[in-house]
Amino acid sequence: NKRVLHFQEGHAGMKKLLGGKGANLAEMTNIGLPVPPGFTVSTEACREYYANGGRLPEGLFDEIRAALKQVEQRKGQQFGGSSDPLLVSVRSGSVSSMPGMMDTILNLGLNDVTVQALAQHTGNERFAYDCYRRLIQMFANVVFDIEGIYFERLLHQLKEKNGIHTDKEVPAEAWLELITQYKAVIRSKANKEFPQDVYAQLQLAVEAVFRSWNNQRAIIYRKLYSIPDEQGTAVNIQSMVFGNMGEESGTGVLFTRNPSTGENLLYGEYLTNAQGEDVVAGVRTPLPIAKLNSEMPKIHTSLSLIASRLEGHYKDMQDIEFTVEKGELFILQTRNGKRTAQAAVKLAVELVREGIISKEEALQRIEMEHLDQLLHRAIEDGEHLDVVATGLPASPGAAMGQVVFDADTAEEWSRSGKHSVLVSMETTPEDIHGVIAAEGVLTSRGGMTSHAAVVARGMGKPCVCGCEEVHIDLEARRFTAGGRTFNEGDWITLDGATGRVISGVVALKEPEMSGELLELLKWADEVRSMKVRTNADTPEDAAKAREFGAEGIGLCRTEHMFMSPHRLPVVQAMILADNTESRQAALDQLLPMQQSDFEGIFEAMDGLPVTIRLLDPPLHEFLPKLEELLLQQERQRAGSHAAAEAEDEWKKTEALIRKVRNLQEMNPMLGTRGCRLGIVFPEIYEMQATAIFRAVLACLNKGITVIPEIMIPLVGHANELQRMRELVDQAAKAVLGTRSLDYKVGTMIEVPRAALTAAAIAKHADFFSFGTNDLTQMTFGYSRDDAEGKFLAHYVDHKILPKNPFQVLDAEGVGQLIEWAVKEGRNTKPALKTGICGEHGGDKESIFFCQQAGLDYVSCSPFRVPLARIAAAQAWL
Ligand code: ADP
Ligand code: MG
Ligand code: MG
Repeated sequence: NKRVLHFQEGHAGMKKLLGGKGANLAEMTNIGLPVPPGFTVSTEACREYYANGGRLPEGLFDEIRAALKQVEQRKGQQFGGSSDPLLVSVRSGSVSSMPGMMDTILNLGLNDVTVQALAQHTGNERFAYDCYRRLIQMFANVVFDIEGIYFERLLHQLKEKNGIHTDKEVPAEAWLELITQYKAVIRSKANKEFPQDVYAQLQLAVEAVFRSWNNQRAIIYRKLYSIPDEQGTAVNIQSMVFGNMGEESGTGVLFTRNPSTGENLLYGEYLTNAQGEDVVAGVRTPLPIAKLNSEMPKIHTSLSLIASRLEGHYKDMQDIEFTVEKGELFILQTRNGKRTAQAAVKLAVELVREGIISKEEALQRIEMEHLDQLLHRAIEDGEHLDVVATGLPASPGAAMGQVVFDADTAEEWSRSGKHSVLVSMETTPEDIHGVIAAEGVLTSRGGMTSHAAVVARGMGKPCVCGCEEVHIDLEARRFTAGGRTFNEGDWITLDGATGRVISGVVALKEPEMSGELLELLKWADEVRSMKVRTNADTPEDAAKAREFGAEGIGLCRTEHMFMSPHRLPVVQAMILADNTESRQAALDQLLPMQQSDFEGIFEAMDGLPVTIRLLDPPLHEFLPKLEELLLQQERQRAGSHAAAEAEDEWKKTEALIRKVRNLQEMNPMLGTRGCRLGIVFPEIYEMQATAIFRAVLACLNKGITVIPEIMIPLVGHANELQRMRELVDQAAKAVLGTRSLDYKVGTMIEVPRAALTAAAIAKHADFFSFGTNDLTQMTFGYSRDDAEGKFLAHYVDHKILPKNPFQVLDAEGVGQLIEWAVKEGRNTKPALKTGICGEHGGDKESIFFCQQAGLDYVSCSPFRVPLARIAAAQAWL
């Protein structure tokens, strides 16, 4: 098994072994694109490195040296040679793209001797020293872990001293001076010498790249995108080409289409007389690619050709790195470009229209996160917007938050629930935790392909880049723009779609579905077999969900209807009633209220099934908290001078306290709730069932088609459902009389015993709806309300559990119960309908499980309906 492979020996299908960068360098080499020669050290070698306690495995370095020999031969150069030295880059490259998260070193192979050889050979001293100072800084940073700031500060001072503004103007002697200073930094910070032995450089660099797999930002990034920690990174060792050889040289990044909007136009940036990182690090704001057409027309033409060739080859939008060395073009990387949600959808649909991919492929490419973002709200346009500056529209969406100037503070604020907008000169990959924590990112430098922009787009965070009107004063923790000053903590809004920076907060409008999204959803509907319903408690939510394509309601919770301010007192009176008459009186008052709720929902769902769940939560949830009552009583006692009246109040509170104490339970989630309430206090469920059937009748009379499904929660024993079904049937008969109506009665399966005894329960059920929130809670024995904050995060961090089971259905455990219940239930009753109505109904992985378990539908919140439609299609494909 080879651990070191030349680019000619690999191909795009070898990502797992070669990493994405290496596999694509190989592919490009083999289709004849101008890729500088080089080779890849495999991810397998990286895993061995870790297994070997952080040392290169036996023999690996010899293999690397042998491979390097071949590159030397092909280039006619020598690594460490004193006439025409070979220089290489040592580049990380993981299996899943993690832009900028790991390390790369350029110009490796320079030392005090070879730098002179390079200067002589190229006749360009300035260039040779520029390469050397870059190498020392990168090497110090990657290998010795010395922060870039120490070097940047010196460079800054040097420019000031010489009265110059850009790196391009720095003369050779000044670089030489800087090189001496840089070496001194390494000496003082790391107590080491910059190695003059080029093979020592190479070995240290390879080890450092392997190590960079486990740097902080890479770990955070992996966690964010669920990239397995075991994957490891490959290392690409590639002969250098130079964009910093003068004005006929340059380097840039190119997207084959606009990654922000999806528009089919080359999109990119470049800098002349610059080297790799200069563009992506956002140190200088680069030029738009269109300008290359006038500056280097030939290069622009070949680049366009290569771009369309690569797009056709990979059948996807590409993100390409290129370098021009003295008028000659080289391609250094290609990958499927990160894109915004809007661009992703547009691209998928257009690639189908262009005949490049099939509808099925287009559907399969859509990422759930993308859809999630598309359904977010956007800025309501108008003249009232107080725009203080405009930068590059790097990642669309509206971000509102308080100005914060560093990633750590942003993270701290987010933990205390504050919304922030991260404002910085440029963001580096080290700031990733701040980008995650902030609502959006604003940078004063750097282009649309800077790290800040790439990472923000990938995460769907709004981002405005290169906003040069914004002047940041880090010391005073404020920025000025358009003559205005904003201090840390002031509110601003970013409009990532237009690049506007707006003072204060603004109104947002509901998301609109683009033509392309509607098209894609149509394709999804043609393909999928599972239905998609929604969880909705109000006519408004129901209507919204229907717009998003919901095919019915899978869960309508009736308790939310009880919580509104007018109704709560009536509900409380019902609960507090001492006798049946006064309880009935309160219920009589509630009945028409419930009936009108149901009418509204039936109307919104005309022609579609509506599953209504009877009251579920424990009654004490509708009563004030005991501590509050005790406090209230305390106050009443203190102000007891208005004798009789006060006494009365006090007594009322006292009665309430007694009742609340009475209803108090040690484990309310396992107490008197769900059908247990219905059995102990049947008048409540009777009222609800009556309200439902009266609403049905009223709607039928208005010509509305109603398909009601009544759902009994928390059943654990068949007898519970049998009783409750009788109660519902009686209510139906009482309301409907002889009029026939097709209604269903079913149950939620959310207690493990119900799943286990599904065969018996199905006798009384027309449908099963898996309430996976409770089912997960009870199967694991985790209290959902406590687990997340207490131990669950720890469990996931320490890999006790692969995922939070309340977010992603635990197929292995909870899933078995579901599969069993479906099988047993259908044995008893072949026509039994099955669905899921927990939070999981809107999660892709869980939806895939539901398909496999053979469920008839999933139900999720209205805004996740489009997402579920696509996921259901993907699950079927
Ligand atoms: P990242 O994964 O962070 O993009 P890369 O390994 O792609 O890191 O390298 C960083 C930069 O250095 C890129 O702009 C790349 O084009 C440039 N670069 C890498 N190798 C070479 C090389 N052999 N010659 C010239 N430039 C290079
Ligand atoms: Mg790169
Ligand atoms: Mg439940």
